[in-house]
Amino acid sequence: MSKIGIPRTLAYFLYYPLWKTFLDELGEEVIVSPPTSREILDQGVKDAVNDACIPIKVYHGHAAWLRDKVDFIFSPRLVSVRLFGDFGTETFCPKFLGLPDMVRLTVDKLPPLIDTRVGIKKDPKEIFNIAADIGDVLGKSAADCKKACRKGLEVHKKYQKLLSSGVLPPDAIAQLFPNEPETNNKVRREEHQRQRLVRKPNREEAGLNIAVVGYPYAIYDDYINGGILGLLSKENVQVFTQDMLSDKVLNRQAKHLLKSTFWYFSNRAVYGGLHYMKQKRIDGIIHVTAFACGPDSVVDRLLEIEAHRHSSKPYLSITIDEHTGEAGIRTRVEAFIDMLNYRRDKI
Ligand code: SF4
Repeated sequence: MSKIGIPRTLAYFLYYPLWKTFLDELGEEVIVSPPTSREILDQGVKDAVNDACIPIKVYHGHAAWLRDKVDFIFSPRLVSVRLFGDFGTETFCPKFLGLPDMVRLTVDKLPPLIDTRVGIKKDPKEIFNIAADIGDVLGKSAADCKKACRKGLEVHKKYQKLLSSGVLPPDAIAQLFPNEPETNNKVRREEHQRQRLVRKPNREEAGLNIAVVGYPYAIYDDYINGGILGLLSKENVQVFTQDMLSDKVLNRQAKHLLKSTFWYFSNRAVYGGLHYMKQKRIDGIIHVTAFACGPDSVVDRLLEIEAHRHSSKPYLSITIDEHTGEAGIRTRVEAFIDMLNYRRDKI
């Protein structure tokens, strides 16, 4: 049995249940890095190239945390997960494409990376070949990999169902894997509190409804975003994110754009933002954007223009970087909430 480390950031927030189940089924031990902390961020800033965006720096920090605890780090090279043709030539952002190379070159004393290329272009069944390639590194047979992959896909479906019902990813992960150490701690209880607020159905009782869109690794990582979801919860705001929408609902929005962006996570953020802008019950949109993110220079402007077009839906853009602190975020979020309450009273 090998110990396989998974960094708790980037695609972790969408694919952890799939990856963990697959590796568990193959008989491997999965170790996840803890939630981002000052120590992890500082290490990432030290190791990563200067002009990387904060999520990439954070990833370096998580990889460094795992390095002396595992035999392999699971760092697949994510290229595309949706079929070409349906989605043009959509890929993950270039930093995802080069991530395993960046980490390998800049973080000292890393164990081997499992950096299998994930490029699904023509047929969803390509995932079984990818699973077999990963299994090859671990000395597993193609048949075992296929079986483990099927199980992983089943759990992934359950995960998506939980997200669609309004559960936030960290909570959904905790529900699926209740025995993981992180699921019993304070972070988990706070997530629970958030989820309760997210799911309140009555607008009057629950206060404002705000859609928070952006990359999952920016929205759900409390440390790098100054705890924005927790702040909203404390203000009795119901939070909606793009990850609570099915692919079908998200993809519908593509038709309303002259052109989609080239990048998978960017498209999800844009489509989610567009969807919520058209919802009457949504009082405002917050876009959490990462400093030094190339794709976000397009995404943020696009969302701002569209928010203005859709009956001037109030829109707040919050940029996070390694210096982001809770105080700065709180001031902006509170001012936004005050403005929304004032607006609601006037309408
Ligand atoms: S999309 Fe932006 S924030 Fe995400 S990895 Fe790429 S550059 Fe960084």
